Amino acid sequence: MINQSVLELKIKRTTQIYSSLICVIESLNIPYIQWFIFGDKPSISVEAKSLEEAYQLETMLYIIFRYALQTKIYSHILEMSKETSGTLKNSDSYKIFFSKKRIKKNLSKVVGEKNTIANLGKIYGYPECCIKKYLEDAKDTGSFEPAIRYRLQCKRLNVQDRFFVSLADQENVGALGLFIPCSPKCPEALKILKQYEKIQKAVIERTRITQKDHAR
Ligand SMILES: [Zn+2]
Repeated sequence: MINQSVLELKIKRTTQIYSSLICVIESLNIPYIQWFIFGDKPSISVEAKSLEEAYQLETMLYIIFRYALQTKIYSHILEMSKETSGTLKNSDSYKIFFSKKRIKKNLSKVVGEKNTIANLGKIYGYPECCIKKYLEDAKDTGSFEPAIRYRLQCKRLNVQDRFFVSLADQENVGALGLFIPCSPKCPEALKILKQYEKIQKAVIERTRITQKDHAR
């Protein structure tokens, strides 16, 4: 006989795992995550709404990153409460950090201080000039102001955005892209972009081959 409450609990947990899995699979197509897996980006963070979700995402992503990178990686969950988030937005969520270097000590030191964003920028591997410019614009408005400034620069210089800086979400603009450069023509940012576009090309090519194999 099936116990109704046990059944409900199992269904609830399975559904949660399922949505985490979808989240993990989708995240593998995000530019900054690809730059981390295939390129020289030192660290990334992904967000979770609850601690339970954070643990699930940490476990699943750890397995993928560890296997893909074939090197030791470090993970750490931080609760982004009002006190610890400093000038960061999304104050009551969790951030799961993954890094190719040991970062735990650095993290507790940088998050919560005034210069949280600057330190995080370094941890994420962004160019100094872009971090500096971001800080000038950001103040306490998160990435919205820097993203607008960057989009205006693109318009003025008559260039397309290739860093995936999106204005769709006012809470965390550009979070899914590579990062917000100080200018679409910043030489340091373009070096990273060149690396990323090489990765992107290889991933697309690989997907094409895999799909061909499946079609046989
Ligand atoms: Zn720059």
